[in-house]
Amino acid sequence: MELARPRPSRRRLLQGTALAAVPYALLPRPRSGTQVPAPDHHGAEWQPASTANYTVANRPTTHSVEQVIIHVTQTAFTKTLSVFQNPAKQVSAHYVVRSADGHIAQCVREADIAWHAGGWEHNTRSVGIEHEGWVDRPEYFTDALYEESAGLTAAICAKYGIPMDRRHIIGHYEVPGTDHTDPGPHWDWSRYIRMVNSA
Ligand SMILES: [Zn+2]
Repeated sequence: MELARPRPSRRRLLQGTALAAVPYALLPRPRSGTQVPAPDHHGAEWQPASTANYTVANRPTTHSVEQVIIHVTQTAFTKTLSVFQNPAKQVSAHYVVRSADGHIAQCVREADIAWHAGGWEHNTRSVGIEHEGWVDRPEYFTDALYEESAGLTAAICAKYGIPMDRRHIIGHYEVPGTDHTDPGPHWDWSRYIRMVNSA
């Protein structure tokens, strides 16, 4: 029975606590350089762009996030990632969606300003999503790509209070002054907006 055991003095208890704390305090701390940040979007794979290819910010505190801009890569998924990792390219997007399975890579934090819209005014206020494919090859716009992208855009809109409509979810071609045509005539906008709203 517990009652038969002598109760330890208060002094002994304090010593015990202090001793127990020693080995814990001596444990090496994890090096901050080895930590990989979790992507902003659940299920996305972190594939960081070169820090030379975007502007560090603290959105939505520093700049409000008001639009999602839809792009098409005009090159393969992995090539897009290597372009964003190349400091000489001076270009990036927050996300890249793979054609075959809708897999999502995140290259720039949503808090930071990716260089995708071709103009500072739009870069600061938007999240850019690249889709693997070519504007004249509609077979790249698979059901999986639409589905995963719509889920991503829905989550971004919910997070920043962006209306899920065509005024706020725009194509790169709609950025004033751009000479880009993406996502091109084969991108099914009505289907996409419908999917974003039901995601
Ligand atoms: Zn574009």
